Amino acid sequence: MKTAIKGGRIVLPDRFVDGAALLFDEKITDVISDDEITSDTRVIDAENGVVVPGFVDIHVHGGGGYDFLDEAPEATPSILKTHLSHGTTSLLATTLTCPDEILYRGVGKLGREIERGFAPGECEILGLHLEGPYFSSAAKGAQAIRKQKIPTLDELEKLYTLAKGHIVRFDGAPELPEMDLFARWTKEKGILASIGHSGANAETALEYYKKGFSHITHMYCSTTTEHKEGQVVHGGIIEAAYLEDGFRVELIGDGKHIPRETMLLVFKIKGVDSTMLVTDAMRAAGTDVTESILGEKETGTRVIVEDGVAKLPDRSSFAGSVATMDVCLRTAVRYGIPLVDAVKSCTLTPARTVGFGGRKGSLEKGKDADIVILDRELNVRRVFARGKEAN
Ligand SMILES: [Zn+2]
Repeated sequence: MKTAIKGGRIVLPDRFVDGAALLFDEKITDVISDDEITSDTRVIDAENGVVVPGFVDIHVHGGGGYDFLDEAPEATPSILKTHLSHGTTSLLATTLTCPDEILYRGVGKLGREIERGFAPGECEILGLHLEGPYFSSAAKGAQAIRKQKIPTLDELEKLYTLAKGHIVRFDGAPELPEMDLFARWTKEKGILASIGHSGANAETALEYYKKGFSHITHMYCSTTTEHKEGQVVHGGIIEAAYLEDGFRVELIGDGKHIPRETMLLVFKIKGVDSTMLVTDAMRAAGTDVTESILGEKETGTRVIVEDGVAKLPDRSSFAGSVATMDVCLRTAVRYGIPLVDAVKSCTLTPARTVGFGGRKGSLEKGKDADIVILDRELNVRRVFARGKEAN
């Protein structure tokens, strides 16, 4: 049966329309005028709210008290439910650096869960995002790097097999040894390679752009800028990201990691088609705990949660966000990003970046009916995932 949402502001990729109706079944059918709604259509009143595509979070570790690496069978459903209730209808499940056996176990588990699939009305995992383990200990942020790992073909293939081929994104530090191998391998598999937790200078970042790295992991967090190496000044990853139009960048949109002026600057220089917001949320997202664990339950790092962000106990570093995507949208709008662009940076731009732009990220004909009804303050009211309302 067809459903129409009317009485709201419908946000399309390049504009919004008022006084129209969004028609869908499992897919978006059309945007029509109210008087075109036929009598056999179920009508939902948006109550003067804002109708946007379901959010696409391409960097998220957990929520609702669980991390994707946790062994507990309730971990993944709890995380998906938590983020779905805040408007995220699809995401990449993100791993972080941890002992090898925990990573292998987690990747295997997630590979099987993705293979099983997700029902309409559920948040969908589009694939895996491996954040590490090939990171620079000099730029580890809150990631626990016990010993420096470098890529080997054996380990890459092992991870790919465990994931049943569902690796969509892989972050690494290009200045490490064997990153040519990593770049060739990700390219051959069609995996998005991203520069993250890296101490690379601008020359290295640009060189590896040519080799296939096209994304910057949480820009301004564990990324380099202008610095001295010996007596010589170098640009950093940030300068490379601005210089090379082909780099797309993500910002943690929790309103804590990135100041207003920095977010505005990135949108101004890179543009909304190359700038996206992510939560980078850890397990405490969607809870009200004050203490938590970053990473897998048994082996992770103890952290505190205060002022709406996770921190290492000595407060020396943030340890991940506790945001959900609706928080990211509200942050961007509060900072002065126009509504249509703010929505795009939480939906279509990330969907395209990870190769799902044909099916996700906008309220356009033929796409999955992933729809969020927000009130005028951009709080989530109702969520539809592939046409079915979340309960
Ligand atoms: Zn992360």
